[in-house]
Amino acid sequence: MSDTEVSPEIMLAFYKRLYPYKSIFGWLNHEHTPTRRFTHREWAFTLPPDTYVRYQSFADADELKKQVCQLNPTRFEIGPVYSAKPRDRKTVRAANFTPQLRELVFDIDMTDYDEIRTCCSGAGICKRCWAFIAAAVRVLDRAIRDQFGYKYLLWVYSGRRGIHLWISDKEAMELTDEQRRALVGWLTVIQGGKEMKKKVNVRQGTKSLPPGIQMSLESLRTIFHRLILEDQDCFAEEEGWETLLQLISEPSVTRRLRAKWEIKSRSSEEKWEDVKREARADKGGKIHDNMVAAMEDIVLQYTYPRLDAEVSKHRNHLLKAPFCVHPKTGRVCVPVDPSSIDSFRPERVPTVSQLLRELDEAGASAGAEATEHHSDWQKTSLKPYVDMLDRHVAALMEEVRRAKREAGPDRSW
Ligand SMILES: [Zn+2]
Repeated sequence: MSDTEVSPEIMLAFYKRLYPYKSIFGWLNHEHTPTRRFTHREWAFTLPPDTYVRYQSFADADELKKQVCQLNPTRFEIGPVYSAKPRDRKTVRAANFTPQLRELVFDIDMTDYDEIRTCCSGAGICKRCWAFIAAAVRVLDRAIRDQFGYKYLLWVYSGRRGIHLWISDKEAMELTDEQRRALVGWLTVIQGGKEMKKKVNVRQGTKSLPPGIQMSLESLRTIFHRLILEDQDCFAEEEGWETLLQLISEPSVTRRLRAKWEIKSRSSEEKWEDVKREARADKGGKIHDNMVAAMEDIVLQYTYPRLDAEVSKHRNHLLKAPFCVHPKTGRVCVPVDPSSIDSFRPERVPTVSQLLRELDEAGASAGAEATEHHSDWQKTSLKPYVDMLDRHVAALMEEVRRAKREAGPDRSW
């Protein structure tokens, strides 16, 4: 990926001709006619070189488009639905301007995997380390649907080396900050910075794992084998296997393993077999509870989704809007289908320059008419991604219609 900045002219052309305002409106509003979910929604714009404009709000998709094209931001972010229109906040008392609703959001970034991935470092990302993000998406998507019952999950590529999740179920939108904190607490398994070796502390002593995490363990074991042992070979080098030994913390076991591994070079797979064999050796073939717990915790530490918890805890946290352009890579932050996350390749996501080229070619062959039409994205490789969002919006709107029918007339706001 090149590190060149996207020019303001290119950004403006993208905002004028390609950004799917109508789909974004439907996704945030849940209905065709504007509701508070849209009109009372905060937008924030990042303007070059370093201005940040907060508390913007709009009546509809056209007003949003007009402002985006006028400001030509490098990116823009979406905040909560407030009790008053954010642009009017100075005319209402502070107590009357509070966040009411907000999608439940999650952020997963490659930065949090730097100490376990062996293939790349820093800003680098490849097909192999994307597997960490893919695994996190699969596990978190399942856990959220199974444990919390949410259905309207939108995964969005962050444009570089991470992914965002937006949950639009009514119950998720209505969560208070306290409830969000509790929910994120349930889903947080990995804690502590670089200096902390053992990052998993989710059980009491050697008791079994909490049920939610236990449910994920089977698929995490598969990921551990394929990704950590085979592909990344995390325990090949001394730094890697020393970390592994520290996580075992059974002196007799680690002493025997260290003696063996110092003499002979063994693959991560072989070392993990050694761990299992040594764990059995002390107790006549049966693995002691301490070692079962230690091995499960190791699997969790290397495979469980690493969340940036702060993003999820507060309703007023702003998060980059889908379909913005990453200023460094030029890639569009497109929605991603979690069921095919393993075959998603960040380097195949269209860049803004590529899309404008496609549009020019389509325009030239069609006689160059209607260049500012709303659905110009249809002529480009952005189409499958906007279609994906539109299907999501259609399902969300159907759900809202059904809920309204059940609630009877005039109960919505
Ligand atoms: Zn890599």
